[in-house]
Amino acid sequence: MEPAIVYRYGQGAYINLTNRCPTACAFCIKRRWEMDYRGSNLDLGGAEPSPAEIAAKLSSEYAAAPFREMVFCGYGEPAMRFTELKEVCRLLRAGSVAGVPRDLRVRLNTNGLADLLTGRDAAAELAGLVDSVHVSLNTPDPAAWLEMMRPAPQYAEKGFESVLTFIRSATAVMKETVATAVEKPGLDRERFAALARELGAEPRFRPMLEEENGG
Ligand code: SF4
Repeated sequence: MEPAIVYRYGQGAYINLTNRCPTACAFCIKRRWEMDYRGSNLDLGGAEPSPAEIAAKLSSEYAAAPFREMVFCGYGEPAMRFTELKEVCRLLRAGSVAGVPRDLRVRLNTNGLADLLTGRDAAAELAGLVDSVHVSLNTPDPAAWLEMMRPAPQYAEKGFESVLTFIRSATAVMKETVATAVEKPGLDRERFAALARELGAEPRFRPMLEEENGG
């Protein structure tokens, strides 16, 4: 089956930007599901789509059946291709994705490591491009974060704090910033919710297989 660059779920069009990830989350189901997501093959086989390819696909998908939201997600961390991510948004906002409303809601599902990946205040660069950010934080505890997210060595030391910084920065420019936690035994829901609110984000708990990707 051809890899899906854009796949549909609910009211959204989901963009499969990359299969690369700076984390190897303990709860990730991409291997168990063999890169399939509800009938779509998300295995890009190393051939990552260009912004122009994505725009063309969004255009044809919208013509076939309109969607209400565009979501950066997939079995990989979208911020691994931060430049391309922004370019797809710019094309949309410039009215260059034929037939798709330029004010379409845009959401980014992420593990929140974009600052470390880019070396910059990444959320600030998404102002006006992305409306909503859902950050897969999962725990209020730095040691538990390491165990659950299993970051590559270069992101281990600063990872957790960097995710918190990213969330705080996102709340300044996004219409919606959500800190999510996968429902796992032992999760201190109250502590997690308190941390999310302290950062300015909305806490949200999600079942293991609800939206298993993009962080
Ligand atoms: S859950 Fe998301 S961020 Fe984590 S390893 Fe899987 S694809 Fe990467």
